[in-house]
Order: sequence, then structure tokens, then C-alpha cells
Amino acid sequence: MEVEKRWLKALEVRRDQSLLRHRLQVDSPPGERLSSGGRDYLCFASNDYLGLANDDLVKQAAIEAISRYGVGSGASHMVTGHHREHDLLEQALAEFTGRDRALVFSTGYMANMAVISALSGRKDAVFEDRLNHASLIDGGLLSGARFQRYLHTDCDSLKTALARFESKPDNQDALKLVVTDGVFSMDGNMAPLPGLVEVCEQHEAVLMVDDAHGLGVFGPSGGGCIEHFKLQQNQVPILVGTFGKAFGTAGAFVAGSQTLIRYIEQFARPYIYTTAMPPAMAAATRQALKIIVESNDRRARLRDNITSFRSAMKRHDIALMASDSPIQPLLVGDNDTLMRLNAFLMEQGILVGAIRPPTVPDGSARLRITLSSSHGSESLDQLVNTLVRAKGRSLL
Ligand SMILES: *Cc1c(COP(=O)(O)O)cnc(C)c1O
Repeated sequence: MEVEKRWLKALEVRRDQSLLRHRLQVDSPPGERLSSGGRDYLCFASNDYLGLANDDLVKQAAIEAISRYGVGSGASHMVTGHHREHDLLEQALAEFTGRDRALVFSTGYMANMAVISALSGRKDAVFEDRLNHASLIDGGLLSGARFQRYLHTDCDSLKTALARFESKPDNQDALKLVVTDGVFSMDGNMAPLPGLVEVCEQHEAVLMVDDAHGLGVFGPSGGGCIEHFKLQQNQVPILVGTFGKAFGTAGAFVAGSQTLIRYIEQFARPYIYTTAMPPAMAAATRQALKIIVESNDRRARLRDNITSFRSAMKRHDIALMASDSPIQPLLVGDNDTLMRLNAFLMEQGILVGAIRPPTVPDGSARLRITLSSSHGSESLDQLVNTLVRAKGRSLL
């Protein structure tokens, strides 16, 4: 077929650039160790930062809810898919985030598409950090709003973009939506939220934070970047969080004022026209949230792992990117070099994320090493030793 040739050609181009992605088939639960293709690996590639994805209490909550309520939700939220378990989770999330209300989605990708496209339209403007997650970028594109990227974590660059937009008479009534990751997913650094809050206040812009990687990890009770910086609802009016990372389950939420949530419920197509998350997933997530709030030991263990990994790398003179989060990237630059390094690590039984463009900017291919509270010190030693050997072989 003629069209197949086109697809094949595009695939060849990707291959020639060392950019083909491939899936590893896993046949064990997520955790410190994974098995795949009959081999065991130490895993430093998942976002299960607190080891909750295979936690007994979380699993038990899901199993009990499945026994009581079945597997699928059966319909969208506006029909008969909205279950008591969703409400209970939403109430718990509102309390957890200190917001009036929360609304649950099946995925973070969808939550971001929904929120941004419902809030902004053709006459409005969306301002995004250059390194925002793809779902935030795609939400901006779906909205049809004018779309501007500011320099990474650069409040002055945002300020300039807002001022330029405001200077045009036509834009006086436009909504200005500023969108940022809380913790950047491929870099691990935190957004300068207090600075962004200030710029948004000065320019009457609305700030939306997607804290997928901060929730559960930062703040005394795992409330994420907003708890870390003590930011209230009036300062960060739109907060998105996801459950696929530290919560160890699946899904997402948006939290904010009563009016914000009512509006999204009515106007966000990606919320309305989709089957509700299974009630059992909501029940499991509520159990994960309980653990996140109540137990600081997991966060403490995670913090210790981050500190000891970074100091070991420093001792061996291996440079990591600046990050206090569980995401500890090691910049390699070139795609081929990264893939050779990654092949060596896999041979040695270590799994890490090998991240290439377009996920990250050209020339900034990297190992995305992620740490979890479930990693023991022996596993960390093994990771460090393997990286040191890779360095000895000039692979990094
Ligand atoms: C993972 C991620 C998402 C997407 O969430 P899913 O639930 O996996 O669809 C959105 N935003 C950020 C910053 C993420 O890291």
C-alpha cells in the first residue's frame, strides 16, 4: 500500500537518528527489582517513588473494592460512572491539598488536556515553561489559545512575555494562563513557584501547577511543591496532580475553588466524554493517599537515598544535573553515546530511563535515574559501581 511506504520511511528516519523507542516487556510487579525476558534487573527507571505500586494495603484496598463494586465503572461520570469511591477520593484530595474541591480523572495526560482547553480559548493566551510536560503543551495546543513558551524556570522571561501580550489593545480582556510543572519530569528541578506567583499577581494571570512529581515526595505531609513553598489556593488557583507516580496507582486530579471545579466539570470535553476511572482504582488511590500523609518514613528513606546517591557520584567525579528530587538525570548529550551506555547498564542488570529527543531538547539525551524509598543501600551501591565502571570504559 502506498501509504505504508510513507510510514516505513518515517520509521527509518527515526532509526537512523537512533531515536526508535522500544518497550521492555516486564513480567514481575513494579519494585526495586524487575524481571523481564527471564532476567532480573535492578530498576532505577520507575516513578514509583514511595514503593506504593505493589504495597499490600494499597493492593488490598483495590481487591476489596473490586469484590464489592466490580471492575469497570460502566459509564462516564455524567451518566452512571460516578461512584461513591470517586467522591470519597475527591474529598480526601481536597483536604490533602487545602483546596475547596478536587475532581478525579483517569490519567494526568487527560487532566491537563481537559483543564487547559476548558479554561482558555482562541482569544486567550497560554504561557508555558519551555520544558513543561508534553500533556501541558498538548493541552495548550488543543485550547486554540495563543501559545507562548518562556525560558525554563525564568520569571523574567515570563514577565516579558506577559508584558508584550498586554501591550496590545486587543488583548485587554484575554485570560492569561501560566502553566508549569512543579518538579520537571526530565530534569528533576523545581519550578520557582514563589517567583511565578508574584509575576502572576502583578500581571493578573492565573497560575496552574502540575505537580505530578512533587506530590508525595516534597512537603512535611507529602503535599508537594505547594506545601513546600506554603502556597495557598489564591496563589496557585489550579493544581493538578497525578497518581501514576508517588501514589503508585493510576489517574489524576485537579484541585481548586468550587467555581473552578464546577466549570471544568461542565466544560471540559476530556472529562465529560470518557469512561470514569474504575471505582477500585479510586479506592486504592485513597489508601495510597493515607499512607502518603501518615507515614513520613518512606519520604525520609527516599531523601536519604537521594543524598547518598548524589554524594557517591560526587566522590567518583560523575556529574549529575542539579536536582533534589527522586529524578536524578545524568546528561550524556549524544543519542548514540546514550544508547551504548544504556546497553552496558542493561548487560550489567541495571535499568534506567534512556531519554532522547523529542522528549528532551536536541543534544541533551540523558540517563534519567529515578530513586525510590524501596531501594536498599546494596542496590544503590550496585548502581554507583556500575556507573563508575561505565566511566572507566569511557562510556560517560
Ligand atoms: C506523568 C506526567 C503526566 C501524565 O500523567 P499520566 O497519569 O501518566 O497520564 C502529566 N504531567 C506530568 C508533569 C507528568 O510527569
